[in-house]
Amino acid sequence: MHRDLDISTSRILIVDDARENVRILASILKDVASVSFSLGGQDALVKASSTLPDLILLDIEMPDMNGHEVITRIKDDPRTAPIPVIFVTSHADVEDEETGLRLGAIDYITKPFNPSIVRARVRNQLMLRAYAKQLEDLNIELERLATTDSLTGLANRRAFRERVTLELRRLDRYGGEACLMMMDLDHFKAVNDSYGHDAGDAVLRAVAQRVSGQLRETDTFGRLGGEEFAVLAAGTPVEQGAMVAHRLLSSVREQPVIWNGLEIAVTTSIGMTALRAGDGSIDAALARADQALYASKDGGRNRVEVLAA
Ligand SMILES: [Mg+2]
Repeated sequence: MHRDLDISTSRILIVDDARENVRILASILKDVASVSFSLGGQDALVKASSTLPDLILLDIEMPDMNGHEVITRIKDDPRTAPIPVIFVTSHADVEDEETGLRLGAIDYITKPFNPSIVRARVRNQLMLRAYAKQLEDLNIELERLATTDSLTGLANRRAFRERVTLELRRLDRYGGEACLMMMDLDHFKAVNDSYGHDAGDAVLRAVAQRVSGQLRETDTFGRLGGEEFAVLAAGTPVEQGAMVAHRLLSSVREQPVIWNGLEIAVTTSIGMTALRAGDGSIDAALARADQALYASKDGGRNRVEVLAA
């Protein structure tokens, strides 16, 4: 998952009330990244929050709002707070520098500018920023992988259980109705045995797609493992849930799954129960749905069984 860091697409916002300083900095940095500018503090705040640059070079002395005030506001806004700020100052005043660092500045550049030093400092900060962003992306990806079934893209067992737990809490608090369905492919082992696991995977993906196509946005569909799926239908009374379950059954068996030119007939069995306030843990409800699923299998498969109570 490693990607090389490229800072050439980074965006820098230069903030300085003196056009001459903006011009010099922009020409020093034009080959490092893309550059925009503000000639005052107010405008800088607007541009920072609307464009979210990767780095801000900030002058301290400006007539409309000084740099210390600007950085304080940038750091107060959670959207702009992560943007690194380098102060641009003409006087290498120790006290001033300390104030800036305390307010969240990450580095200093002093006037008159030494082009190679300016480029080096800016590159350093852009690299750090790019690393931080990459880490953020990685964490989002890891979170997705941790909650998604990689074969079907559905919620995995963990994510599905979490979702049902939340729904149960909602029912306990606000009342309402919800249905829980366990769905199991019939004679799935025979598919793997006859055609191999690639065929089995194709069948699982096809079932996931067909059932997803029947569900509403408020429903949660998960693969609990193997050929076992589950549906949480929020805000759904039992009678309506049973109708949904029959629709899911038809959508799966309507057409065979085509794999490598072969037609593989697929049916499922569904066990359904109401998720109720007072169920305590989701395991009680899952056990009822499981019991209904067994009844459905015992009753000949390719059918829906409801265990309401
Ligand atoms: Mg100034």
